[in-house]
This record gives sequence, structure tokens and C-alpha cells, in this order.
Amino acid sequence: MDNRAFLSHVDSTISKPNLKEHGRAVFILHDQLNMDAWPSWIREEKPLLIFMESAGKGNELPHHKKKAIYVLSSMRHFALECAEAGYPVHYHSTKGHFDDGLSEILSANEQLSMTFMTPSEWDSRERLRNIQAEFEDRVREIPNNFFLADPEEYKERVKDGWLMEYFYREMRRKSGYLMNGDQPEGGEWNYDEKNREKLPKDHPVPTIAETEPDEITQEVIEMVEEWYPDHFGNSENFTYAVTRRQALYRLNEFIDERLDEFGPYEDAMAQGQYKLFHSQLSVYLNNGLLLPKEVCDKAEKTYQNGEARLNSVEGLIRQIIGWREYVRVYYEAMMPEVRNANHFNFTKKLPEMYWSGETKMNCMSECLKPVIDEGYSHHIPRLMVLSNFSNLTETDPRELNEWFHLAYVDAYEWVVLPNVLGMSTFADGGVLASKPYVSSGNYINKMSDYCKHCEYKISKKTGEEACPFNYLYWNFIDKQRETFSKNGRANFMVNMFNKKSEDDKKAIWEGSEKFIEDLKRLN
Ligand SMILES: Cc1cc2nc3c(=O)[nH]c(=O)nc-3n(C[C@H](O)[C@H](O)[C@H](O)COP(=O)(O)OP(=O)(O)OC[C@H]3O[C@@H](n4cnc5c(N)ncnc54)[C@H](O)[C@@H]3O)c2cc1C
Ligand code: SF4
Repeated sequence: MDNRAFLSHVDSTISKPNLKEHGRAVFILHDQLNMDAWPSWIREEKPLLIFMESAGKGNELPHHKKKAIYVLSSMRHFALECAEAGYPVHYHSTKGHFDDGLSEILSANEQLSMTFMTPSEWDSRERLRNIQAEFEDRVREIPNNFFLADPEEYKERVKDGWLMEYFYREMRRKSGYLMNGDQPEGGEWNYDEKNREKLPKDHPVPTIAETEPDEITQEVIEMVEEWYPDHFGNSENFTYAVTRRQALYRLNEFIDERLDEFGPYEDAMAQGQYKLFHSQLSVYLNNGLLLPKEVCDKAEKTYQNGEARLNSVEGLIRQIIGWREYVRVYYEAMMPEVRNANHFNFTKKLPEMYWSGETKMNCMSECLKPVIDEGYSHHIPRLMVLSNFSNLTETDPRELNEWFHLAYVDAYEWVVLPNVLGMSTFADGGVLASKPYVSSGNYINKMSDYCKHCEYKISKKTGEEACPFNYLYWNFIDKQRETFSKNGRANFMVNMFNKKSEDDKKAIWEGSEKFIEDLKRLN
């Protein structure tokens, strides 16, 4: 594996700095690609910038090919932009991990001191802190400035009963978004009850811009195909934005064309339509091409100008200053022990369909398709279909967590882990979510048109033709009754199961046992 064979564009554009001539360096990780989030002295003094491509990091999980392409191409583009802006840039490539590369550089250049920003992911942080221990006062850590909330301020409060809603209200007050003095705009903090509409038949949905891969991205695509041929997904039709300018275009397009209807159809799903009115901005927010404040500023301005309805703008701002920041606080408070969380003690492997996308269940195949094709789906397919099915089929939540981490382009451990082990699988036993997110096929039928196109019958509760979600759901409620009975919001489900006839109960148990046993699993 020749490390620089696929770096010809970077090598021919950036003139290699002589490291001996530099006293100060700044190490920029692949998810810290925005100079506005770095301290002003860096923009003023323009020290040496070090970027690191690490085959070791890429090999930790068989990440979606498009994730690998996105991460590498956006980092190369950013490094080239920094070089154009007058920064000396050292673009390093290592077969090992990035700390091996940094150790090499610091050992060979004793005059060099280095600043790094606290990585958002635990393992990268450990690696950099080890480098700091090795090179002592030559290496300095500065706080991560890519988020809005300081986790140190909230970490202690993360425990059962500390709801996202409390955190969100504090963030609204602090940021001033949609506030009239101390009161929320419109009188309510949350307009979610207006945000649960099904997409009407033939409702027009705007298309989203697609970026044609340039020479730099093409080179990365070739490299990913050669280095990671067996990774998840495919590299065809790569259309993600890879520069800040392109990401800003996507942001403006969302604000102008989709934000107004984002709210009402936030929970909707529709056959062949994967993005609906969602922003698809997590990809750009999570590596710094966009900053959370600028997205919220623009959304609020659009509301103030009367160009988007309140329930849509409040919904978006809540996702960003509420959920996104809250899951990061949770990650900081719960790591590293939470990695092993498994409240229900499920030990089964992930169903094979998560890899192949092949299944007779139309909702599952519709929700897996955009993940395999693009490494994306919006929140409801992730939560109410893909995670729901994994829970109901008694899959080890850590297996599901790993799959979400490798399959999505926006996945980084700080955000994927709380959403999977906290929110969607209840693996943490209820620290993040107040009850397990499981449902029968009724929810999917209510929020989508999937059931109309399915071989299974949503109206049937048990038997060969019945929607598997229907009996698996009641089986889950029965088997996990201890958890549901303790929960004031969910114990009525156990009572409902108890009231079923013995014949119905038997059909639920037998159907579920057979379905779960017959399900093909990954090795
Ligand atoms: C099982 C599961 C796994 C998830 N894994 C990830 C992940 O790996 N990376 C990721 O960024 N999000 C993850 N999420 C959260 C959420 O589903 C995505 O942020 C969202 O779907 C991204 O699409 P979008 O940009 O079109 O979002 P939109 O619906 O347009 O929302 C706007 C923004 O709000 C933020 N946001 C909304 N909900 C959340 C949330 N629960 N946690 C964090 N940010 C949120 C995102 O930055 C998103 O871009 C996961 C959710 C679940 C249930
Ligand atoms: S019938 Fe069941 S399996 Fe089929 S699409 Fe509807 S919810 Fe999914």
C-alpha cells in the first residue's frame, strides 16, 4: 500500500514546508475543518498546520465507502484552501494511526511545539493525550470549540430523570433563539404536536443539489476502492459537498426551499423519498464545514422575516441546540463504561439484511436502501424502523451501534453512541430515554405509505402473512415486562398484553420465536 500514490493532487499543489524552519504547529483533525472555530492567534500568526491521513483509523471499522471519501476529500480540500490562504501546510500520510505520524514528526523535529484541539471522540483524545505525555510541554491541548455547550457545565446532571427538554430550555435562554425576553416565541417551548403529519399523496418535494466530484475527490474515490474494497456501501454517484463553499450552498438551499415544511413532515416517511424536507446537514456540521450557530442564526432570521413557520424553525433549532448538544454532554458524562451498555442482555448478531438490504419487509428495505446507497437516512427510519426492528428481534445493541457507526456518513462516536445505546435501544437502562423506543407496524403505517407496497399485511396481527412488527412488538412487551411495568408511561402496554386471549398470546409467542430463530444473522 503506497501511502502517497493517491495524493498527487495534494503533493503537486502544496509546496512541502521544511519542518526544521518551524517552531509552532497546529494539528487539525479530520472533523475540525473550519478556521473560524480555532483561536484568533492561529488565523493571525499562521503557524504550520499538520493534517494526517491515517490508514489505521480508516481500518478500525469497515466504514461506508462514501464516509471514507467524504472525510478524506473534505480534509484534502480544506488543507489546500489553508495553503492558498498562506498557511504552511504539512499533509502527512501514515499506514499506522495518526499518533504514530505525530510521534515521528515531533521526534524528528525537536524545535517544534504543537497545539491540538480536544478531539470530540474518546479514542482520538486518548491518543493525543498520550502524545502530550510523551512530549510533555511541547504539546498543548485547547478546548473543543465546534459545539455550543460546555459539557463540563452539565455533565454532573446526566442521570435518570434529567430530560433533554430541561437542557434545551436553558440553551434557548442562553442563546436567545426564538425568545421574547424570558418567554419562548409564540408562548410554547416546543411545537412537536404540529410536527407529526404524514406526507400527502403527490405532495411536491424539492430536489437537493448534487456536487460533481472534482479531480481531488476522484483521486480519493480510486484510493478508497483500492484500499477498502470490502467496506460497506459503494462509491458510485458520490454527490456530497466537500468544501465549505459547497456546504454553505446546501445550507442556503435548505433554508430557502425546505425549512418551511421541515416541521410538519419531520416524522414522515415515503416510498422512494428519503430526504423529504430534512436538511442533510449533519454530515457538514459534524466535521466543521458548517457551524451550529450559523445554521440556527439563518433559521431564526428566516422566521423573523416571515419566510418559515414557527413550528419548523423551532423544530430545527431544538434538534441542533437541544438534541445535538445534549447527546454530546451525555457522551462526555457516560464514557467509556457506556460502550458496554446492554440493559436487556441481548446477545444476537445483527440481521444479515442490514448489510445486504434484502428483505421482504418493505419498510426495512426502503429504510436500508439510502443507507447502503448514500450512508444517509433521516431520524425516523433510524429510530422507528431500523433500531425498532433490531430491538424487537433481540439483537445485541452494541452490534447495532457498530453498524450505525460504520454505515452512516455523519457517524462519529460522540453522536452515534448516545443515539443508539441511549435513545434507540434503551441499552443504558433509561438514562437518556424515558422508555424503550419500540412500536408495532401501526406507527410505520401511520407515518408512511410503506405498508401499501409490502408483501406482509399490516392489518393482520399474527400468522404467516401478518406484519412481523405486529407480533414481535407484543412479544417484546411481554418478555421485557419488568422494564415496562416500572415505567409510568409504558406499563399500560403490559396490562393490554395481559388482557389478550390465551390463543392470541400463543400465536404471538410462537410467531415471534419462529421469526427470530429463522432470521439470517451476520457472523
Ligand atoms: C439510531 C440513531 C443513530 C443516529 N446516528 C447519528 C449519527 O451518527 N450522526 C448524527 O449526526 N446524528 C445521528 N442521529 C441523529 C439524527 O438522526 C441525525 O442527526 C439526522 O437524521 C441527520 O439528518 P439531517 O441532517 O437531515 O437532520 P435534520 O432532521 O435536518 O435535523 C437537523 C440537525 O439536527 C441535528 N440532530 C437532530 N437530531 C439529532 C440527534 N438525535 N442527535 C444529534 N444531532 C441531532 C443534526 O445535526 C441534524 O443535521 C442518530 C439518530 C438515531 C435514532
Ligand atoms: S406491513 Fe409491516 S413489514 Fe410491511 S411495510 Fe408495513 S410495517 Fe413494514
